[in-house]
Amino acid sequence: MRMNLYNYVLVVFLFMTSFAGAQDYYFEEFQPFDKSIPSPEEFLGYPIGEYHTRHDLVVAYMYTLAELSDKAAVYVYGKTHENRKLLLLQVSEAGHINNLEDLKRKHLEVVDPSTKVTNLKDLPLFVNLAYGVHGNEPSSTEAAMLMAYTLVASENEEVKNMRKETVVFLDPTINPDGRDRHSNWANSYKGSPLIADKFDIEHNEAWPRGRTNHYLFDLNRDLLLGVNPESQGRLKWYHEWYPNVVTDFHEMGTNSTYFFEPKNKSASMNPVTPSENRDVLNKVFSDQFASDLDKIGSLYFTDEIYDSTYPGYGSTYMDLQGSLALLFEQASSRGHLQETTIGEISFPFTIRNQYVSSIATLRAAVKNKDLLYDYQSRFFADALKKAGNSKVKGYVFGDSYDRGRVKAFIDVLLQHQIEVYPLRQKLKAAGSDFEPDHSYVVPVRQNQYYMVQSLFETFDKYRDSVFYDASAWSVVNFYNMKYKSLDKLPSMGEKVSSESNTISIEQVQKSKYAYLIPYEDYYAPAVLFNIQNRGLVVKASSKDFSMKTEEGIVDFYRGTLMVPVEDQFGIPADSVYRWVKEACSEFRVKAYSVSTGMTEKGNGLGSGSFKTLTKPRAMLVVGGSVGSYEAGEVWHLFENRMKMPLVKVPEERFYLTDIYRYNVIIMVSGNYLMLNKKEQNRLKQWVADGNTLITIAKASSWVINQKIADEKLIVKNKDSLGIPKRSQYADAKGSLEKQYLGGAIFGIDLDITHPVAYGYHDKQVPVYKNNGIWIAPSKNPFSTVGKYLDDPHIDGYISAENLEKMKHSASIIVSKRGKGRIILFADNPNFRGAWYGTNKLFMNAVHFGSLVRVPQ
Ligand SMILES: [Zn+2]
Repeated sequence: MRMNLYNYVLVVFLFMTSFAGAQDYYFEEFQPFDKSIPSPEEFLGYPIGEYHTRHDLVVAYMYTLAELSDKAAVYVYGKTHENRKLLLLQVSEAGHINNLEDLKRKHLEVVDPSTKVTNLKDLPLFVNLAYGVHGNEPSSTEAAMLMAYTLVASENEEVKNMRKETVVFLDPTINPDGRDRHSNWANSYKGSPLIADKFDIEHNEAWPRGRTNHYLFDLNRDLLLGVNPESQGRLKWYHEWYPNVVTDFHEMGTNSTYFFEPKNKSASMNPVTPSENRDVLNKVFSDQFASDLDKIGSLYFTDEIYDSTYPGYGSTYMDLQGSLALLFEQASSRGHLQETTIGEISFPFTIRNQYVSSIATLRAAVKNKDLLYDYQSRFFADALKKAGNSKVKGYVFGDSYDRGRVKAFIDVLLQHQIEVYPLRQKLKAAGSDFEPDHSYVVPVRQNQYYMVQSLFETFDKYRDSVFYDASAWSVVNFYNMKYKSLDKLPSMGEKVSSESNTISIEQVQKSKYAYLIPYEDYYAPAVLFNIQNRGLVVKASSKDFSMKTEEGIVDFYRGTLMVPVEDQFGIPADSVYRWVKEACSEFRVKAYSVSTGMTEKGNGLGSGSFKTLTKPRAMLVVGGSVGSYEAGEVWHLFENRMKMPLVKVPEERFYLTDIYRYNVIIMVSGNYLMLNKKEQNRLKQWVADGNTLITIAKASSWVINQKIADEKLIVKNKDSLGIPKRSQYADAKGSLEKQYLGGAIFGIDLDITHPVAYGYHDKQVPVYKNNGIWIAPSKNPFSTVGKYLDDPHIDGYISAENLEKMKHSASIIVSKRGKGRIILFADNPNFRGAWYGTNKLFMNAVHFGSLVRVPQ
């Protein structure tokens, strides 16, 4: 709720009287408290809610509690990109804390379907109270400190019983990098007296805002993909402890109220999570949330807006692991006090609701301990039973050319504890050949059957067409992985582990003539930059050829990199060898050494079909109106995967920037209102002078609309009769949302002879589309690198109208301007840092854009 009179008076009272009543405001009912334990207010020197607490102080408070009390211990599960600690405060009665390893062993026996445990009486529940996945939704981390204090210091009988019946694993901040970004903002611009005006700078953070982590990833989408250290640490911990209950606290629009589960039932036709989770467990918990929020007069709603369709939310992932995962959404004060349509909402008020829900979670957990353990004890056994009834017995996947991409996909499967086995003999499945050395099998009959379904199955039928987020997540398609379902399991080798999922490459031998590096591997673009950056001249072949190497005759394909030993501006042969060897070894990419320029098939290594490559000096426009997710994905790809530097120039400073320092400029979705006609002309001239502009999604429509790229957009489908239709007003919102492409997977036909498609062998590639940008195929017949298939749907929801537009649209175009080119992506090739299958198209645009030569 917003401020009723009581709350308003109380908050005013709080801010006017040095916060003498702060402790009563939050946890009066849990008196008495152990006086030897400092409250958050005593520790911080200000009452919770007066400031946004910095992460280092949150961490210090958790360590202090663990130091002073035998009821608490700190467990560190990782560190962030910016080196902040990720930790859990384990809280329970001292006996449990001292005996955690033993409790864990017994708990895991309950989870394990192969053991039968009957006596659960003395076993406490494992509850993971996790807070603050979105850094600028700050109320929950403040509530976490209140919870930690209550659980450690309260001598109240109810809290004592909570300690007896549960072990709480309290994660105060899932996303500390984003949280500190926002906390510093809110504290820096805090008014005195407080300013509630919603237009005040305190309530309007600068780009990129604090929601996301260092690389601007939404960590509440990352659990399925495990791209970031925050998620990797959590996944590892989840699969070590399998908590019974997991929370996920958020904030939403300032004019809203409070949300708790159950979520919107609609969405997917094939929900993987057992219905008992929603129908039984959510029910008993929501009764408790309602009754506790009623007591403090807070308004709330349930069963709408948020859905459970995407398995990678903090509030869905553990639903697929036998837990009850719970979403909470609090209207945001975004800042310390903000006006709403019915009064003002204060930071302390938002914190109190999150605190009350945390307490209610523990109350419901304690009351329903038997129910939760019973559910968890049957969960994986039921999954195995369902898997046994499945017509599909397993999946085979693999790729003969690109070991880097296959390894990365297996790493994702292993993060979810999915069992993977090497294929032992050649297999033909649904018309595709799978080779034993490069292929793997995932049987469906395993504990993680639901995750196997989530990662491999595709859907096209939905109960609802309105989604909160993406409607497609068959991760196997993100990796452009060739895969087929199997109706019986083939002969398999020994289970793959993360230790055995490594790539060993034979080291290249020294050559006096040249080195050849096939371009198929995911990391080949990284090798290319690495050796270019050391000063080596590298050429790329525009034709397939074959020739004799130290390993006999080898077929090489378009895009193969050639490093001559001579013609290196005087760099000694020893250095050339060492640099090629080191780069290939760092990125696990195979290279070959050749001693002649004569090819078996082809025109010789001195042929004009080998073009010298220009080292990219890349710049990304950020800030202003630029979409932070897409910008972060490019930044992450450059630095984390390709080890390439990327200059990030704010949109608002573009006019001051000497763009001729760069030969590649990247623009992702944005309005670019700060790039006026003068700047657009400057950009146009820069392209015409021989440089490469790469645009993604909305930036692609922007360059077309501003006539920087001479291409066309496909606008609305024509209504055949042109007669206006009449519909019910109540359906208006849903009708708009039905046209919204939240995110789905489609097939494109790729021109694999084009430099932007070097390294690809299959013409059909899945792409991810989450926008309404429809680009007409280029009028230049050689410029449409990727076009959607006639039947493009692979996975997820799309309206019939959008599907029609798609069939006539291009996915990738290279548009010439003068001596330069604009490479337009209609889709997002780098989505969520997980699209290994299309990342290379993007990196090719960076590396090979300058090779593109087509008749004008
Ligand atoms: Zn959120």
